[in-house]
Amino acid sequence: MVLRCAWGTCSADERYPQRLNGARLVLFPKPKTNLDKCLRWIKACGRPHDQLNVDRINKHKAVCSTHFEGGKGPSTLFPDPLPADGSRTTPARPLPKRRLQYSDKDSSELDV
Ligand SMILES: [Zn+2]
Repeated sequence: MVLRCAWGTCSADERYPQRLNGARLVLFPKPKTNLDKCLRWIKACGRPHDQLNVDRINKHKAVCSTHFEGGKGPSTLFPDPLPADGSRTTPARPLPKRRLQYSDKDSSELDV
């Protein structure tokens, strides 16, 4: 089996180093020795339970170093991957606030 990333929709695996873009694959914590951390990582990866669960963790499950705070793998302060659903990160695209100002509702209120 090939070492591959289990995080979100990421499809990086060691067969395609170009997809890793300089990142490295960090192995999952082992459920036998570090169950708490393993469960946190599974949660952060955000995949459906039948795709990713404790029984599926083996020595071929990994997460790219880019999915961690700072993009360089686990650190003392941030030992776990960022949530794949983006719940703790800042949005990549700012909300289109300007469009809201010119909505029909706003302009009709201005006319009155
Ligand atoms: Zn990845």
